[in-house]
Amino acid sequence: SGTVILAATPIGNTADASARLVALLERADIVAAEDTRRLYDLANRLGVHVGGQVISYHDHNERNKADGLLDQVAEGASVLVVSDAGMPTINDPGLAIVRRAIERGIPVTCAPGPSAVLDALALSGLPTDRFCYEGFVPRKHAERMQRLRMLRAERRTIVCYETLHRIAETMDDLLAAFGPDRPMALCRELTKDYEEIRRGGINEIRQSVVDNPPRGEIVLVIGGADDETAAQESPDVLSIDALAALAA
Ligand code: SAM
Repeated sequence: SGTVILAATPIGNTADASARLVALLERADIVAAEDTRRLYDLANRLGVHVGGQVISYHDHNERNKADGLLDQVAEGASVLVVSDAGMPTINDPGLAIVRRAIERGIPVTCAPGPSAVLDALALSGLPTDRFCYEGFVPRKHAERMQRLRMLRAERRTIVCYETLHRIAETMDDLLAAFGPDRPMALCRELTKDYEEIRRGGINEIRQSVVDNPPRGEIVLVIGGADDETAAQESPDVLSIDALAALAA
């Protein structure tokens, strides 16, 4: 059989395209792209001739298209899956074909590369040894507050994606959920000419968003809860020290 290959594409800087991505664009029998126009645009910038058939493969059709593509892989085709930017499957199409390939015993591999999650985490200056990825925080205020409150006692560094038009409201909600001093980083336009990282307490960053509204694409990175905050949030989960004190 052939293979399904997920490949990461640049998140802003074309030069981040890997040599493997270039070779795959030239050689794959089928390229399943989130947006075919954007795929051709990337290929042009890379000076690559896309050799195979290009089909559109996005959130709304990926379940229906996965099996048809896999039938072709079973007959020997190589199918390259790319999204508009970054790693497929990370808030982008790709998971449906990976799942079906696993179920059908069809080989699936990945040509890794840029992803805004790891780029932002690494640049945040916040602990990277343990982190969680929250995708996009919910759009509606009530749901967003509920989600953020659930994260208040999270010890790991939290990474989430945000869209420009909601950033001011989200900063208000972050302040309400985590308090003014929790360290965070607002990372925008990663790998692009106007890349900017704002680092500071939540209130400080919130004020900077009011004074100087950020443009472009944004990732938020929020420091995990310290011992005190974690203990306040989960009074039923006692620390080892607290248990030892009770036992004494
Ligand atoms: N699959 C992509 C990845 O691996 O990063 C993420 C796709 S998601 C639909 C798009 C979101 O990723 C944007 O709204 C933004 O939060 C984040 N993002 C993508 N590129 C970015 C960049 N260059 N700078 C900052 N954030 C970016």
